[in-house]
Amino acid sequence: MPEKHYLFTPGPTQLPPEVLEVLARPAIHPRGPAFKQPYERVLGRLKEVFRTEHDVLLFSSSGTGAFESAVANLTEPGERALVVSSGSFGERWADMATRYGADVDHLRYAWGETPDPVDAQARAAGAAVVYVVHSETSTGVVSDVEALAAAAKDAGALVVVDAISSIGAVQCETDAWGLDVVVCGSQKALMTPPGLGLVSVSPAALAKARETSTPRFYFDWERTREAQAKLDTSFTLAVPQVLGLDVALGLLLREGLEAAFERHVRLGRATRAGIKAMGLELASPDEDRSAVVTTVHAPDELDVSVFLLDLCERLGVQLIGGQGEWSGKVFRIGHLGWFDIFDLTTALVAVEDGLAAAGVEIERRVAVAAALEAYEAARV
Ligand SMILES: *Cc1c(COP(=O)(O)O)cnc(C)c1O
Repeated sequence: MPEKHYLFTPGPTQLPPEVLEVLARPAIHPRGPAFKQPYERVLGRLKEVFRTEHDVLLFSSSGTGAFESAVANLTEPGERALVVSSGSFGERWADMATRYGADVDHLRYAWGETPDPVDAQARAAGAAVVYVVHSETSTGVVSDVEALAAAAKDAGALVVVDAISSIGAVQCETDAWGLDVVVCGSQKALMTPPGLGLVSVSPAALAKARETSTPRFYFDWERTREAQAKLDTSFTLAVPQVLGLDVALGLLLREGLEAAFERHVRLGRATRAGIKAMGLELASPDEDRSAVVTTVHAPDELDVSVFLLDLCERLGVQLIGGQGEWSGKVFRIGHLGWFDIFDLTTALVAVEDGLAAAGVEIERRVAVAAALEAYEAARV
C-alpha cells in the first residue's frame, strides 16, 4: 500500500481535498480578471472569520512576517511597548520590538504559565502598544485576550494580538474586544499551506502607522490597504495560497465558526483524556480554552527526537517536539484546523505504539476509549 502521512502538528496542518484541488489548477495572474473574484471573496471572508468590519491585509509571508508588519508600522523608536510573553512566540515579539527600537517592557511569565490580566493592567501605563499572544503554540496555553486587551485599552494603548494559531480554532472577537491588530497565518487553523500572513488593522492602528517614522517598504500597511481597496496588489501575491484560503474559509464558514470552536474544545478534552489515561502528564493546561495544541511531558527515560522520528518513519505520523527551553522535554499534538476525532484516535494509537517501542511503561489500550468518551461527553 502507498505510504500514508498524518500531519498532526500545530502548523502546518492537514489540507482538505477541496483546498488541494484549487492548488493544482493552472496558474493565473494576480492582476488578471480571473483573480478578482476569488480575491474579493477572500477579503470578505477574512473579515467574517476575524470578526471585524475593518481591513484584513494580506502579505505573501509566514505569520512572523505579518507580525513584523505590525511592529514596523506601529513602532516609534524610544516609545514604550509592553510585551506579554509566556513562551517562545511572546519572547520572539519582545526581541523583535526591541530590534525596532521600542523601549520594551517585557512582562515575562515562565513557559506554560497563563498571563494574568491584572499584571498587564499594572504594567500597561505609559505603553503606546501592548503585544499579547492568544494561543501560545509552544506551550498550549490560550490566554484571556479579551481581558488582556481591556487592560491595555484602559491604559490608552493599542493592542496587537498574535492569533496565528487561534483564528478559526478559538473565539477571537477582533472588533467586539477592541483588538487593534490581529495577526494570523494561513497554515494553522485556516487549513491552507504556509505562505500567507494576515493582519487586521483598526482605524486607530492605521492612524498610528501614519505617524511613526520607522522605515518599511514591503510591509507598509497603507500601501497594501490602498492596493486591496482597488482589488489590486502592490507586489506579487502567493496566488495559489489565496485561492486555497478562499476555499478553506468557505469550508470554515459553512461549518460555522461557533461549531468549529466547539469542535476544537471537544478535541482538546478528548486529547487530554487520552493522554492522561495512558498515565502521561500534561504540560499544557487541563482546561477547555487549551483547544489548539496539547503538550505532553516526555517521560524521563524517553529520547523525544528518536521517538518522533520513529513515529514518522514507521507509522507515517508526524507530531512535533518542544521549542526552545522545552526542547527534548515535551512533545506536542496539534488538533486544529482540518482535524477530527479519528485523526485524534490515530495520533493516540501512534503515541502509545511509539512509547511502547521505546520501552516506556504506559497504560495500554485505554487512551482511545477515554478520548472517545470525553469527546462524546463534551457534546453540547
Ligand atoms: C506558528 C506561529 C507563529 C509563527 O508563524 P510562522 O508562520 O512560522 O512565521 C507565531 N506565533 C504563533 C502563536 C504561532 O503558532
